[in-house]
Amino acid sequence: MDPDLISPCGINCAACVVFFGYTMAGGKRKHKCTGCRISNKNCAFLKKKCKVLREGDVTFCFQCGAFPCEHLEKLEARYNEKYDTSLISNLEFIREKGMDAFLELEATRWKCPACGGISCMHSSKCYNCD
Ligand SMILES: [Zn+2]
Repeated sequence: MDPDLISPCGINCAACVVFFGYTMAGGKRKHKCTGCRISNKNCAFLKKKCKVLREGDVTFCFQCGAFPCEHLEKLEARYNEKYDTSLISNLEFIREKGMDAFLELEATRWKCPACGGISCMHSSKCYNCD
């Protein structure tokens, strides 16, 4: 687990389907994503809509006066429903307990029981063994 792969909105890119090189629909992408923070493009869900993130005024959404803003709440609702993941809880955990503790939790959360690799939060697959 790598802190550079934790996006400003609390997604762990290491467990993201796009980072593994696939699309949400299951197809193979031409290029793998290097992670929201590392690729530093404006493609990420929130950055497209958020000036604070685009201008690099905060490292994580919880550092913003508007946290949790309506854009984050929309994304949160989608992740709660579809992927059983809470970005806001992730962010609050990082704020309260720190990045090291969060990475430890994430390592357990996404660990593939079969091979010990990282399974995907979006497809629930392990691209290492499945
Ligand atoms: Zn596996």
